[in-house]
Amino acid sequence: MDFQTIRKLDGEYLAATYARYPVALVGGKNATLVDSEGKQYIDFGAGIAVNIFGANDEQWKAAVIEQLGKIQHVSNYYYAEPQVRLAQMLCERTGAKRVFFSNSGGEANECALKAARKYSFMKYGEGRSRIVSLKNSFHGRTLFTLTATGQDEFHRYFSPFVPEVAYAAPDMEEVVRAADGRACAVIIECVQGESGVSALPKAFVQALSHWCSENDVLLICDEVQCGNGRCGTLYAYEQYGITPDIVTTAKGLAGGLPIGACLFFERAENAFSAGDHGSTFGGNPVSCAAACNVIGRLTPEFLLEVQGKAAYLRAKLKNFDGVRAVTGLGMMIGLELEKDAKQVAAACLERGLLVLTAHSRLRLVPPLTISKTEMDEGLSILKEVLA
Ligand SMILES: *Cc1c(COP(=O)(O)O)cnc(C)c1O
Repeated sequence: MDFQTIRKLDGEYLAATYARYPVALVGGKNATLVDSEGKQYIDFGAGIAVNIFGANDEQWKAAVIEQLGKIQHVSNYYYAEPQVRLAQMLCERTGAKRVFFSNSGGEANECALKAARKYSFMKYGEGRSRIVSLKNSFHGRTLFTLTATGQDEFHRYFSPFVPEVAYAAPDMEEVVRAADGRACAVIIECVQGESGVSALPKAFVQALSHWCSENDVLLICDEVQCGNGRCGTLYAYEQYGITPDIVTTAKGLAGGLPIGACLFFERAENAFSAGDHGSTFGGNPVSCAAACNVIGRLTPEFLLEVQGKAAYLRAKLKNFDGVRAVTGLGMMIGLELEKDAKQVAAACLERGLLVLTAHSRLRLVPPLTISKTEMDEGLSILKEVLA
């Protein structure tokens, strides 16, 4: 199909939820993608921080195809080897005790919020069901995770919301006030993604972690976007010197296939028992095999390379005309610009570079395997557009 046909059918048959860029991507290799008309793009977006190894990574494809050749879906009424392999890897790498698999980031967070309420209910009974989330956070599109998303613009039209969710700025006084003595959990993104790629202050996160453990309030780290090597460590919270009670992740975890995971650490280990939660597709063997390939390759050496690439990109970007600030952490890069970010993104696309926006900022989350040549090509297009 040519692009105009795709665009026409999309407009006719798909729910109009997405404001799309005028491109249909059909193939590519690593961080170089190709559209339906044969035009090439450098990819600084990775399908929103999903395609960790870019497009058509041979090792990743082999792992997926190997599992596809065995069995493609297994109900959670039965055991499945890819699930246990992945859960063991995640626990061994993070110190988590147990994992629940779902299919998306929103579902991983939904699971975490439900688990926190149950944990508190079993221990303290009713009256302690409050979730504290941060202003400018993003946690998903299900009604509970949307409620926990601290941005008013997402809240139009969908009331009534889930009760007992309160918002606080990244400030301990505000958190304590929002908790009001009846919170079971606080949910944070160490690096807030959708609202502009802002890393939370370390002192706040450490104080929060301390307060949470003192008060038996579960600390949930939403690593859906900032996790899986994105920030230069396996999970971003590691750089904050804290141990959360629950970690959720998704996006990059399976390198391009749908998956979500909710990792329970010691305090929350036994929050759920049989029948409390479930998912038909959760822990799909093909997705889990893909994720095993991803986690297995995010070695300390690989993560060092990611840190090196992030430092390289950040050093270059800092000196570009039109860049006011470079934010975020590692390969999760926000750019505060003099120009309008949406217009810059459109101009980049025109010239063959895919970038994302997050509120008023440009958001760069390239594949972690991006080559030096691809980085330089992308940077030179961006430089031209910003000047
Ligand atoms: C993308 C994102 C989500 C939602 O993930 P979906 O897979 O779209 O449901 C939740 N939290 C954060 C931090 C995200 O970036």
